[in-house]
Amino acid sequence: MSESTLRIGLVLPDVMGTYGDGGNALILRQRARMRGIDAEIVSITLDDEVPESLDVYTLGGAEDYAQRLATRHLTRYPGLQRAAAAGRPVLAICAAIQVLGHWYETSAGERVEGISLFDLTTAPQEQRSIGELITDPTVEGLTEQLTGFENHRGGTTLGSDARPLGRVRHGVGNGIGDGGEGVVQGSVLGTYMHGPALARNPQLADHLLAAAVGTDLDPLDLPEVDRLRAERLSAGRR
Ligand code: GLN
Repeated sequence: MSESTLRIGLVLPDVMGTYGDGGNALILRQRARMRGIDAEIVSITLDDEVPESLDVYTLGGAEDYAQRLATRHLTRYPGLQRAAAAGRPVLAICAAIQVLGHWYETSAGERVEGISLFDLTTAPQEQRSIGELITDPTVEGLTEQLTGFENHRGGTTLGSDARPLGRVRHGVGNGIGDGGEGVVQGSVLGTYMHGPALARNPQLADHLLAAAVGTDLDPLDLPEVDRLRAERLSAGRR
């Protein structure tokens, strides 16, 4: 690995990564390499301290107990908090949104302190939200609809320092009835979309990648990726 290698942190894949969310790191690496950028995935497990110097970080979803283990680890080793404070891009999926908030309540009603990278809180809703999700992004530079699969019991309420990543067109999203989905706060993005999200939403992948390398990127012409995306969008609209 040379000094110019782009280092992609896959944070706690041993406890967070339902529905193949680890694939988000693979997508970032592949889309970097296709542009001639040397890139590697650095897996950070419960046996490792969390480094603060990586170029971009991804965290996946998790069930309640695994989510708790992850929360404890990220609190004990605050490398992710330092990286976010330094403006490094971070992508948090589903349970990771909740862990990165101020607190979340498990489906058993226990309140767990999060790491407060996001100004939000999460509490269980009456009904689990499951199914295809489609949103219109609200972030500058994102022009294409976002698509993913949601499965969460928690409903997330954003505070004034956080804003939604998109407006829901189909599905539930954050789930508090305000039509918002996901979260953006500084360089940290969160979404309830599994898929993995970056396989379904290449524009979002390039948004994170551009932030990681610090330059705009040439578009990639990948018809297979467009086809997957079109298929999932039409499934979501049904
Ligand atoms: N355990 C969390 C919830 O149900 C997150 C689930 C997930 O990441 N799929 O809200």
